[in-house]
Amino acid sequence: MGKLISGKEVSTSIRAKIKEEAQKLRDDYGIQPGLAVILVGNDPASQIYVRNKQKACEEVGFHAFEYRLNENSTQEQLLDLIGVLNKDNKVHGILVQLPLPDHIDPQTVINTISPEKDVDAFHPINVGKIMLGDYEFLPCTPAGVMELIDSTGVEISGKNCVVIGRSNIVGKPMAMLLLHRNATVTICHSRTKNLAEVCAGADILVSAVGKAHFITADMVKEGAMVIDVGMNHDENGKLCGDVEFSTVEPRASYITPVPGGVGPMTITMLMKNTLRAAELKCTKSAK
Ligand code: NAP
Repeated sequence: MGKLISGKEVSTSIRAKIKEEAQKLRDDYGIQPGLAVILVGNDPASQIYVRNKQKACEEVGFHAFEYRLNENSTQEQLLDLIGVLNKDNKVHGILVQLPLPDHIDPQTVINTISPEKDVDAFHPINVGKIMLGDYEFLPCTPAGVMELIDSTGVEISGKNCVVIGRSNIVGKPMAMLLLHRNATVTICHSRTKNLAEVCAGADILVSAVGKAHFITADMVKEGAMVIDVGMNHDENGKLCGDVEFSTVEPRASYITPVPGGVGPMTITMLMKNTLRAAELKCTKSAK
């Protein structure tokens, strides 16, 4: 039977440390970490994410700045706002909630955020640093997965790790972080041949596909660790991951649930990046 890796528990203990560090920053430097979140339009899921990010800021003692632009705002208006926030000393992290309306190019927007305030780690400079293994910020979801794996005490070095998904925000950086920890990494995607066979060779299997019931027991080696990044809805509209939990869980050594696995970690890692951005600002100003 797979032991559950609780994202809630790991997240709670990391947030407690972040809160302490933030308090120290206030005491020592008079600086309160600040996160600006920009939401364009009225996408209901995005509104929930933004609210959760604000709540997390309150919980760890950060300043949360929220900017809401209407659906028809121009790209120019959004870029202007980012320009103002780039210069604002109270703002240490800037996050533009994705997806954006079709008339706004997300990459242009990401490129406009100062790399020092890019707490999502999506800016090409930060992406390049991650590739080199010399980074300030890690993309939140893969960083959260690394924390979950580490919470088990299982050694990553030398393990066969299979990542399914090659998106810029999850799959690719996930594979890179595992590689930096000396895993032998295979990245799978929609054109991968013999997917089940490749997955069945994994000591650590990370699924970031976005399809309910996608990972079945035959794809999982006995005793493997299974990390489910997927956030989907099943036929009853219930939140679920990519993994068919009831059949996979008995084969796994460790497994993350959905909800309560990777999900809570993503926002926690955003808080960690915002704290890091504020700390870097302090050390820079002290020089
Ligand atoms: P994405 O950009 O849609 O990428 C999905 C990946 O899955 C693609 O690389 C795709 O391959 C691959 N794929 C699709 N069908 C496949 C198949 N039949 N066999 C093998 N690979 C297949 O999605 P994403 O943004 O990376 O997100 C992935 C999932 O994670 C989603 O459910 C998302 O909601 C969830 N997510 C969760 C969190 C969290 O905090 N828990 C954060 C981010 C994302 P191709 O490249 O060949 O198309």
